[in-house]
Amino acid sequence: MGRNFNFLAWECLFFAFFILALQSCSSTFEKEKADTHKAFFENTSSERDEYLILVNSENPLDKDYVPYDLTDIKYTRADGREVQKMRKAASVALESMIEEMKRLGVYDENLTVTSGYRSFEYQKYLFDTYVKNRTDSGMSYDEAYKDVSKTTALPGCSEHQSGLCVDFHNKSYANVSFAETEQYKWIEKNAHSFGFIVRYPSGKENITGISFEPWHLRYVGEKNATKMYENSLCLEEYLAAL
Ligand SMILES: [Zn+2]
Repeated sequence: MGRNFNFLAWECLFFAFFILALQSCSSTFEKEKADTHKAFFENTSSERDEYLILVNSENPLDKDYVPYDLTDIKYTRADGREVQKMRKAASVALESMIEEMKRLGVYDENLTVTSGYRSFEYQKYLFDTYVKNRTDSGMSYDEAYKDVSKTTALPGCSEHQSGLCVDFHNKSYANVSFAETEQYKWIEKNAHSFGFIVRYPSGKENITGISFEPWHLRYVGEKNATKMYENSLCLEEYLAAL
């Protein structure tokens, strides 16, 4: 009896050590990921935070950049696509905004996320596929490349790689007619309270280099989003003014 008890006790002790070792391994890994992520932003000025990162054709992200805190988006469109992800703070803010829209009766169940974080490789796949579709129908490679560049960001130059934006609408595909909906009109006036901006607004095309995209929301945090909203500044203008 005593021998059995001792054996059991040693077994329990061993198991407890094993669990502790496992936990410390995974938290070291998490910490390493967080440190790498912080290092990525260490050159940004003190007024800027990691949610103010600028991604465009002149400021591409490294092909290896992957946000460390990607989280599932609960309101991904349920049409068989993979559950979309974005950075945790942005995902929580999006859910809060949707809950508020529901509470006010402005939400519509088709208003869902069709695209969140996209990896460098996925953006490359999209770009190459669009070019191939055009060359297959007779365009030259150069023409096809130019044509695709008008509407699709090159890999590294898509803000979707930052994990801070979503394509969010209630149309069958991302379409400017979303701007006419009651949902968009509410978003345009209120998204800033949840930390979001309409990243490519109408009237700022010459600065952003992108035509009006009412569906593309970018998380910058409540304080920055509110300042941008109140002063009608797009992200490029706001960063230049900091
Ligand atoms: Zn987008």
